[in-house]
Amino acid sequence: MRFQHNMASYLYNNFRITPDKTGVFEYAKVSYPVRYGKISEIRTDDHIFQFNLNGELKFVRSLAENWPHPGEWLKRTMANDWIYYASDNYSKSYDLIGEYYLPCFSYSDNPFTHRRPFMQMAVCDAVRSLNCLIEKLKSVEVSSFPQNIRVFIDSIIRNDEQVLSDKANRFHEILGGWTSVLPPDVRHVDYEVIPINIADGCLYKCGFCSVKNNHDFTVRSQRNIKHQILALKSFYGIDSVNYCSIFLGQHDGLHAGIDLIEFSALTAWECFDFKNSLMKTPRLFLFGSVDALLGADEKMFNRIDRLPYRTIINLGLESFDQETLDFLQKPTPASSVKKAFHRMVDINNCYENIDLTANFIISKDLPPAHIDSIIENCSYFSPGNCTKGSLYLSLLGNSLDTHDIMKVLVKIKKGQSFPAFLYLIQRL
Ligand code: SF4
Repeated sequence: MRFQHNMASYLYNNFRITPDKTGVFEYAKVSYPVRYGKISEIRTDDHIFQFNLNGELKFVRSLAENWPHPGEWLKRTMANDWIYYASDNYSKSYDLIGEYYLPCFSYSDNPFTHRRPFMQMAVCDAVRSLNCLIEKLKSVEVSSFPQNIRVFIDSIIRNDEQVLSDKANRFHEILGGWTSVLPPDVRHVDYEVIPINIADGCLYKCGFCSVKNNHDFTVRSQRNIKHQILALKSFYGIDSVNYCSIFLGQHDGLHAGIDLIEFSALTAWECFDFKNSLMKTPRLFLFGSVDALLGADEKMFNRIDRLPYRTIINLGLESFDQETLDFLQKPTPASSVKKAFHRMVDINNCYENIDLTANFIISKDLPPAHIDSIIENCSYFSPGNCTKGSLYLSLLGNSLDTHDIMKVLVKIKKGQSFPAFLYLIQRL
């Protein structure tokens, strides 16, 4: 684990307590475990526990012989989900998703990997290890400990498993529900975004989609958004210094319009004091629909470009092929999808701080013309800046195994020059 060597550890029996560990301040794609911002740690004979600045458990790794790999770990999200970071094949993982570690979720299996970490004893034990640590900490006589160690231990004791579960409920109450899916680009900040809902629902209610909800598309009021931001500021507490990126949800933030996007982005900027965040390169993530993009004018992108964030907007295009769009029950004509893709390339070339990326569906059941149409339409362009305009492939159902997915990915990567990755659907 990489840390600067300026932290003071405190030893007590078999505990090594380190209240302030400084990690890395810029998100990076590396093939070794890395921590971002500031965390605190307790190392016992059995586990390494790492906590955010509120004393809430964030990472845990077992030191037992049966732990799957010394470079792998568990991360707990603000929604109280566990994610296991698997490292079994760095180059394959990078080819697939653009990251060296493959996140495995406690709530769904990745159909393209054989890894099932949540079926393994050491991983299950680590997930349930917090209350045991807290019981041990409660019996420690802390009166002679330095003040900062006492404060740290007290904050852990106040955040047992039930409290963390209640906090996740509070988190969803503030937002008005779960974020059923984050944009694929959020991988660039290891999914460490503060979500703020500026609109509910979506325009199309596509037949194939499993993440949609029943809401008609409706924007939230500025008052509601300000209320969310203030409640989230209090929820994240002192740990907000470890964040500098936001996701403006839900499924079509772009269609909420520039006034609301700008208001939300700037209110969050001020309220969370992102200027003084420990983390560098603030990012703003959004989803956008074909109609939202085609209805947006240059003034809108000029204003987005001037925001104090790098803005990444993920567009749900799904297919350039009309037969495939009909099969998916996506009510946007192929001609509009093509126009949207042309607009995406233009915007990426014109605006330094904006990156539009595109989603396409893959499945064994789709018409053969679908993949060829992606290659044909994308190869018309040279993307210029190869770090922009990524293509993401969303797997529909479990119809393709890893080998099939790699074949499709390689075909798309070879046939045109935009970066292409598999989209891992992660919730918050
Ligand atoms: S793919 Fe996007 S637009 Fe279509 S139903 Fe799902 S969330 Fe709505």
